[in-house]
Parts: sequence; C-alpha cells; structure tokens
Amino acid sequence: MASVPSSGSGVIRLFRFAGIDVFLHWSWFLVAMIEIGDKSSRYSSLLWNTLEYLALFAIVLLHEFGHSLACRQVGGTADRIVLWPLGGVAFVSPPPRPGATLWSITAGPLVNVVLYPVLAGLLMLSQSSGWFDATPDAYRLLNAIWYINAGLLIFNLLPIYPLDGGQILQSLLWFVMGRGRSLMVATIIGFIGVAGIILLALKERSMWIGIIAGFILLNCWGGFRQAMAHLRLAKMPRRAGFACPACKAKPLAGAFWGCGNCRQAFDTFETRGECPHCGTQFDVMRCPECGASHPISAWASWTPPPPIGGSRRT
Ligand SMILES: [Zn+2]
Ligand SMILES: [Zn+2]
Ligand SMILES: [Zn+2]
Repeated sequence: MASVPSSGSGVIRLFRFAGIDVFLHWSWFLVAMIEIGDKSSRYSSLLWNTLEYLALFAIVLLHEFGHSLACRQVGGTADRIVLWPLGGVAFVSPPPRPGATLWSITAGPLVNVVLYPVLAGLLMLSQSSGWFDATPDAYRLLNAIWYINAGLLIFNLLPIYPLDGGQILQSLLWFVMGRGRSLMVATIIGFIGVAGIILLALKERSMWIGIIAGFILLNCWGGFRQAMAHLRLAKMPRRAGFACPACKAKPLAGAFWGCGNCRQAFDTFETRGECPHCGTQFDVMRCPECGASHPISAWASWTPPPPIGGSRRT
C-alpha cells in the first residue's frame, strides 16, 4: 500500500521472526550517521546517541510487529517489515473486512500504549531508587525512550490517512458506509491534515517535516485513487446467484477473468470455468475483490426454487 522501498531494491535482510522478514534500507545508515552525530550535546559520548537511535527503531519495529502479527491472526498476509529513515512499514494485507482491517491497524499503536506505562514505571523506579545516579546518561536515555514512545503514539494516531489514526478512522467508517466511500472520506480528511503538516514544515523551516508531509501526501493520493477504483467497481453490474465464499462479494458480470492457457479474457461464471477461446477448464474461480480462490460450487449461493405446483418432500 505504501510507496516505500520494498525488498530487492537497496535493502538488506536483518532477520526473520514468526514468518516475518525484517529488512533495512541502506539509507537508514546514512541518516543514522547524521542523526547520531547531530545530538552530540545531550549525552557525554556518542555511544548513548547510538543507543537512542537504536531504541527508536526497536520501538518502531515492535509497533510494526503489532500490525503484522494482528494481520496474520485474522487470516491476512504479512510477511515483510522494512525499516527506513522515516520509520518502518509493515506490508500487511488483511482480509477485506472492516473488522479484520481495524484490528490489523489498531494493534500497531496498541504496542505503544502497552509500552507507555512500562516505560513510565521504569522511569519512576529509577528516579526513586537512584539507580542512575552514577550514570546520568542512562537516565537521560530512558527518559528519551519514554518521549520517543509517547511521540510515536501521538503521531501515529493523527487522523491523517495513511497514518494509523487515518486508517482506524477509515475502518470504522467502513462498517457504516462501505469500503470505497469510507476510504474516500478518510483520504479527503487526510489531504486537509497534510496541508496542516506542510504549513508546520514551512513555519518550522524543517526539511524532515517536509519530507514526512510529502510521503504522507503521496500515499494519501494513492488511497484516494484506490477509493475511486472501489467506487467504480461497486457500480459495475454483478452476476446474481453467486457470491465469494470469503468476502461475500457478488462476481462482476463480464469478461474479467484471464485464461492461464491462451491469455484471453472471459466471464468464468457464464461458462462455468471453461475458457470459450481454447476450451481449458478451470476448477477454481478467483475473486477479483479479495483474491481468494474457490471452486464454483462454493461460489453458488442460491438454492433452486421449488417446482411450481409440485409438492416438496423434506
Ligand atoms: Zn502503525
Ligand atoms: Zn472475495
Ligand atoms: Zn483460453
């Protein structure tokens, strides 16, 4: 969904956990060097700056694992997390249902919510016990991590699509107004929010905020176009008597399926899975809406009407 560098283009694989590959983009090192060198005043040595930068990405990584694991829990696919200078991106595709999407999105910020009291407790404990009297750097680091976690939580919950807050808003609206319209509303609110971030970048003269605004704008625009596509799709004629067993969408009426043998398009529900061009028989139908494949018998949602005038024995 997001336009970030994906695997294969300048990324290295760090590790794999619970079936999820974690990648790091090369630009991370570049920005890490700039960032670590930049805050040299807060700590007594660069080691602590490095630890702070690593802690930032550890928290981002936990957040992204929240998304990925929740997405897998509801039956979606999530096998990749990419870390890059603007944070992390979990490539998740939950089943196209509002509830499943809502949980996949909410689980990310929920990680920060759980970390919040844990870090606050550690901070209070270290203050009262005087643990860090000998190493004020360690106390400063813990303090910084608390701020990073709180900052990430607040930032991610901004209702600006595709930030988590914007996507949570979209999934909630999806329950009442459908997928296309909810995405349309969420992206329009997102555009207003991005305008605010751009103003902030100009006011602060901050290149970083500007880059973040550009990134959000790009993805918000992508979401807007997706919403248009969903709305167009929703208006197209549907074939009665069939429904996708996974997402319950009725199949489109028309030549929207491609033959794997002769590459020509045909309407698989009209011909019961037989390509009219080359005669190849397909035993499963793929749902263009959710991507699930099921045999035609599973798609058939109708029961034959009882013969008129005849008696029906049960
Ligand atoms: Zn998130
Ligand atoms: Zn489907
Ligand atoms: Zn064919």
